[in-house]
Amino acid sequence: MAVLYPDQIGEAWAPEGERCFYCGEIRYSADTAIVWAGEVVIGLHVKCAERLAVAPLGDVREAQLSGVDGEPHWTRRCARALREGLTAQEMRS
Ligand SMILES: [Zn+2]
Repeated sequence: MAVLYPDQIGEAWAPEGERCFYCGEIRYSADTAIVWAGEVVIGLHVKCAERLAVAPLGDVREAQLSGVDGEPHWTRRCARALREGLTAQEMRS
C-alpha cells in the first residue's frame, strides 16, 4: 500500500474522480488516499483503508478458532470460560 497525496492525484497513474473501493464514494483531488496494487489497483479513503484493514482481522480470528487450520478451538475456549466462571463463583460462596 502507498499513500497518495493530493498533489499526485490527476497523474496518469492516479486519475481523479475514481471511486473508493470500500465505500464507493468518489475520491476527490483534495483527499489524501491509500492505493494498493495487487492483482488490481484499488484506491481508498484513509478512513476506509483503516476499516478495511481491521475488519478482516476479526474474521481471520474467527476462522482460526473454528478450526480452519486444524481442530476447532471453540470447545476448549467454552470449557475454559465455564470452568473459570464456576471457580470464581465457588470462591465467592
Ligand atoms: Zn471510502
